[in-house]
Amino acid sequence: MAIATINPATGETLKTFDPLTDEALEDKLARAATAFDAYRLTSPQERAGWLRAAADALEADVDRVAELMVTEMGKTLASAKAEATKCVAGFRWYAEHGPVMLEPQEKDAAAVKAQRAFVVHQPLGVVLAIMPWNFPLWQAVRFAAPALMAGNVGLLKHASNVPQCALYLEELFRRAGFPADVFQTLLIGSSTVERVLRDDRVMAATLTGSGPAGQSVAAIAGDALKKTVLELGGSDPFIVMPSAHLDTAAEVATTARNQNNGQSCIAAKRFFVHREVAEEFTRLFAEKIGALTVGDPMEEGTQIGPLATESGVRDVEEYVADARDKGATVVVGGKRVDRPGWFYEPTLVTGVTPEMRMHSEEVFGPVAALYVVDSLEEAIGIANSHVYGLGSNLWSEDEDERARFVRDIQSGMAFINGMTASYPDLPFGGVKQSGYGRELTEVGMYEFMNAKTVWIG
Ligand code: NDP
Repeated sequence: MAIATINPATGETLKTFDPLTDEALEDKLARAATAFDAYRLTSPQERAGWLRAAADALEADVDRVAELMVTEMGKTLASAKAEATKCVAGFRWYAEHGPVMLEPQEKDAAAVKAQRAFVVHQPLGVVLAIMPWNFPLWQAVRFAAPALMAGNVGLLKHASNVPQCALYLEELFRRAGFPADVFQTLLIGSSTVERVLRDDRVMAATLTGSGPAGQSVAAIAGDALKKTVLELGGSDPFIVMPSAHLDTAAEVATTARNQNNGQSCIAAKRFFVHREVAEEFTRLFAEKIGALTVGDPMEEGTQIGPLATESGVRDVEEYVADARDKGATVVVGGKRVDRPGWFYEPTLVTGVTPEMRMHSEEVFGPVAALYVVDSLEEAIGIANSHVYGLGSNLWSEDEDERARFVRDIQSGMAFINGMTASYPDLPFGGVKQSGYGRELTEVGMYEFMNAKTVWIG
């Protein structure tokens, strides 16, 4: 994939970038290692100060950087601004809480026959982050804020279609006053990742993206015995029980499926609706999906912009065609929008069966698959039959149903009467083929730290 800015709303290539030469890459790796030697000795308070400066700088840039995000990957301007603002809050969250998380954790010295025993969390070193285009700022900041707070040094290999967002981030950290080379962007293709990952100066890696990319990185990192965190795909269930407030559930379902033009790992993708309320919920859901405004993502009022890539819109077309051919009903939407760029209509498909690809794969676009079920157990059973287990949603006023859902759903996150979202205050990640490890909170920060046991006799 060429490293380039291609506007998904028009298909026009606006800027191309040469990948780093071998020499330039070597130089950046050497700089990262050198930067770590000094950066690890900075205090948590100093790092918190730089994170606050990054927050302030980004806050001043929200309008400019939001336009860049829209241009590179097609999200709506409003959602791009919201994403940048969320990054500001993420920086501030780690600036506020990070120093406490880095304090030594005292243990029961008497129990281990010591004068004093404690755990101190120390940074690992240079960490490689391989990131996707769908939340071009937040995905990278979700890695960078805790990593830099921890005292690690970051190398960002961003998706090839968001190079200017990637370069913006490098510049942001520099402007915020972080020491030189503590955060560098590597403009490299995915085929160069192995070289970086195997480099002795790189201690660990995190990847957010597709299953195949995760498998490749995990295999190489396994061979090189390096720690990884993987945040891969999802096909989150959204279960609606008879006690649910149907109109609110349908409203949130519409947002949960179509956020980010349908391209979010934690988008609700499979909707399991109890038979008693299926007709009413389907009517409300179809009505709300059909009312979404599709258009130029730069324009105010647009709710759905284009898909980020041409292959992305082709994939979505194929999933819907496959389902239709095998007997599904397309209730609303179901085709490309007749205009330049990679637009696809927000779509609702019912009558989904296991033979259809959308039953067992991840549709990365604005297409909702709806199933009618007779019980919570049936919904959970089908939900759990999927290879993924990232987020999950239940709509119910029944305490017993909520408890069974939390107990039985195979997912890293369970949201009740609301949609799955990421917050610095809550761990984020999945189980099964959605990956392993967690991001955010202290859990995310400790993933790339050495929990060093100290015993003093
Ligand atoms: P990819 O997984 O291909 O890309 C994500 C990142 O991984 C990019 O930086 C990419 O670089 C890099 N990458 C790709 N292949 C490898 C590899 N073999 N080794 C190392 N790094 C690699 O996602 P796509 O953008 O191609 O999207 C494909 C599908 O992935 C989507 O349809 C969706 O299902 C899923 N996806 C899930 C996301 C999530 O948030 N969980 C986010 C994005 C995608 P480069 O751009 O240079 O190829």
